[in-house]
Amino acid sequence: LLLNRTEQEGLVFDIQRYSLHDGPGIRVLVFLKSCPLRCLWCSNPESQSNRVELIVDLQRCRGCGLCAEICPHRAISCEDDRYASYDAALCDLCGLCIQACPNRARRFVGWRMTVSQVMDEVVRDMPFSRRSGGGITLGGGEPTGQPEFAHDLLACCREQGMHTAVETCGSCGWPDLEDISTATDLFLYDIKVVDPAKHMQFTGVDNHLILDNLARLARIHNDIVVRYPLVPGFNDSADDIGDLLNLLKGVHGLNKVEVLPYHRFGESKYAMLGREYPLKGLEVPSESEVKEIVEQIQSGGLDCREQH
Ligand code: SF4
Ligand code: SF4
Repeated sequence: LLLNRTEQEGLVFDIQRYSLHDGPGIRVLVFLKSCPLRCLWCSNPESQSNRVELIVDLQRCRGCGLCAEICPHRAISCEDDRYASYDAALCDLCGLCIQACPNRARRFVGWRMTVSQVMDEVVRDMPFSRRSGGGITLGGGEPTGQPEFAHDLLACCREQGMHTAVETCGSCGWPDLEDISTATDLFLYDIKVVDPAKHMQFTGVDNHLILDNLARLARIHNDIVVRYPLVPGFNDSADDIGDLLNLLKGVHGLNKVEVLPYHRFGESKYAMLGREYPLKGLEVPSESEVKEIVEQIQSGGLDCREQH
C-alpha cells in the first residue's frame, strides 16, 4: 500500500519550538521514538522503546492511591500512603490512572502523528525559521528507525523551503539512511567511541555498521557534523581521541566535530520510568577537561567546538 506522503504515520515523543540548537537559525525539533542503542548515559530514556509508555513523576505524586484503586489490571501498587510500584508488563495503557490522578503525576510518552499533523505544528513557526535560515531537525530516539515517516516529513519541510537536519546514531540499514539523505541538508552524526569492544560494552551494539554508514554517507553528502558525547572514563582517553582523529582523517569531507559533554539532566527520568540510572555517581567533565579534548581534536586539523 503506497501512502500519500502526508498520511505517513510515526511515533513522536516531543516537539520543541524556537530552538537555537541542532542546526542553523531558529528550528523546530521533532523527536521520534525508538532507538537501537542503549547508551548508559542516555538523557532521553523515554525515547528508547518503540512503544507508547506511561511515566510517573514521583515529585508530583502525593501517594493518594487513586491510580492503584482504579487500575483494572492491578498494575500499580501503593502501600502505607506511598506510591510503591508500577508494572508495565501488566498495563494495557487504558489511561484510567492518568485521568484519576489529581496531581497530574502520570502521563503517556509517545503519540502517533501523521506527517500532516506534524506539519501543522511546524508551519506555525515557519515565518521565524525561514527568516533566520532555520528549519526542522529530527532527533530522538533514532529517526532512521522510522525511515518512511522521517523521509516524508523532511521532504514536506523542504517543499516549504525549510532547512532540514537529522541527528542520527547511524545504526540502521544503509538503504534507509540513503533514502533519508535525499531530503536532508545537514546530518548530525553521533560517534560514541571508535573502539568496537567499548562501543558494545557501553551501548549494547556493535559499531561496525555505524562506521560503515558514515563512510558511505560522506561519499554522497557534503554537510555532516560528527557529534562526540564526551563521557568521563568511557571515551576521553588519549587513545580514544586518537582513534577518532584517525577515523575522521580516513573519510573524505569529514572535518567538523561537536563535542557534547556528559550531563545528568536525564537522571530523574529513569526514576519516572521505574528504572535505575546506570551511571549513578559519575561526575560530569570539568570545563578544563572539555577544553583540553576540544583542543586535541583541533590540533588534529579538524574544526571542533563544544556543543551544549
Ligand atoms: S494505564 Fe490503565 S492498565 Fe495501565 S496502569 Fe494505568 S489504569 Fe492500569
Ligand atoms: S493518583 Fe497520582 S498522586 Fe495519587 S498515588 Fe497515583 S500517581 Fe500518585
